[in-house]
Amino acid sequence: MSQTSSITVGKPGGEVWVACARCNGPTCHKVLAVVDTSDESPDGDIRVWDDYMVVVCPGCRTVSFCIESTNTEDWEWDERAGDQQLSKSYTLYPSRQAGRPEMDGLFDVPHGIATIYRETLAAIEGKQAVTARQPGTIWRRRSMRWSP
Ligand SMILES: [Zn+2]
Repeated sequence: MSQTSSITVGKPGGEVWVACARCNGPTCHKVLAVVDTSDESPDGDIRVWDDYMVVVCPGCRTVSFCIESTNTEDWEWDERAGDQQLSKSYTLYPSRQAGRPEMDGLFDVPHGIATIYRETLAAIEGKQAVTARQPGTIWRRRSMRWSP
């Protein structure tokens, strides 16, 4: 944070599409509470916004914490608007990845293997590609270069 930063308590009631930890996919979460922060570079050319939200899934009613981040350096094409829009990214706590729930019957697996499984899943959900060694990536031993 710098001297140009600001923090405001926003009004609850908005919606955000993020992955649900239980529903195994993205759902339209309701925003229960939000704190908006913003900051900018000293020359004002670059601005960043982080909105800290407590959200609830409308289906399973699981409550999560979510950070919605945008900045003036990341843009994406919006088909509906027919124009460039600021790109939004979401960080969820606890971390999760849509479509990759924990396997059933994990209590029947030996404790050591279950622990390795849970740590690997957490690495994948946390986007720690080196630790998780995500599919489609190859570690080249000779050149020691990361190749997606
Ligand atoms: Zn849910």
